[in-house]
Amino acid sequence: MPPVNRNKPVRAASSESEYTLMDFMREFPDDATCLEHLWRTRFAPDGEHARCPKCVETRVFKRYETTQQRQSWTCTACGHHLHPLAGTIFAKSSTSLHLWFYAMYLMTSTRCGISAKQLERELGVTYKTAWRMAYLIRNKLMTQGTEPMDSGNPVEIDEMYMGGRRRGTPRGRPGPDSHKTPVLGIVQRAGRVAAMTVPNVKRATLFPNIRQYVLPKSTVYTDELAVYNTLDRGRKGYHHRRVNHSEGVYVSGDVHTNTMEGFWSLTKRGIGGVYHAVSKKHLQGYLNEYAWRYNERLNPRAKFSTLLRRAVR
Ligand SMILES: [Zn+2]
Repeated sequence: MPPVNRNKPVRAASSESEYTLMDFMREFPDDATCLEHLWRTRFAPDGEHARCPKCVETRVFKRYETTQQRQSWTCTACGHHLHPLAGTIFAKSSTSLHLWFYAMYLMTSTRCGISAKQLERELGVTYKTAWRMAYLIRNKLMTQGTEPMDSGNPVEIDEMYMGGRRRGTPRGRPGPDSHKTPVLGIVQRAGRVAAMTVPNVKRATLFPNIRQYVLPKSTVYTDELAVYNTLDRGRKGYHHRRVNHSEGVYVSGDVHTNTMEGFWSLTKRGIGGVYHAVSKKHLQGYLNEYAWRYNERLNPRAKFSTLLRRAVR
């Protein structure tokens, strides 16, 4: 066997990881590299020339050493400052950019989620800071797309109550005083998922969401909940098939909602096991996070790189 360079670990061909911690540390070894990345991506591709909004021209910018360690570059013609962090989720944060990037790395590489408590330990920041970082990453960077799903593969639609219904227990809506939050899920087989909290599971609430994501003429699979009864009517012309969960039928040929159930089960296990209790107010953020990771499985780019691109756009 050839000698191994232990300072340059090579990822095993069998590893499922597309971007390891070692890759991350090579690309972003310190805070300055992270700042430079933002500067080049947002303003100055060559690191030196950027468009000065005051001169209204491309100028040479320099980063002057100051006592306050200002995170800005200065126009050498007029003295105007450009701040690469302005308008990003990193602005007005006293946490090191390197730690922000590392938090993003952790949230993209986990499968089941990472709690604020664990982020606190990993990053060495306060719980409050860790919680806020995860909150912003989930709600600003991992937001779900609004564009419709491709035509072609069948779409499964299923609703659930967070902390509510399990397979085999009687269905139906929890009473009005319930703390359970209804959630609507739409998934295309071998495609994207969209998961959203909804105020209720009435037709008037669910259908606009379904119409937004599901193209006309698509084949749609649901369970037997009455609210879906009219899905095959109307201009959209959906081909609608149902499985009778209440009669214990979960699969009938191609007709099932197992893809959606699989996503729910991962999400419920994750939220239950990692985050414990999630309030109605914050549930959408967690759904974003799970949907984001699920949808990114289709993307050959490393998840971390995709998230970073969202952070600097
Ligand atoms: Zn200028």
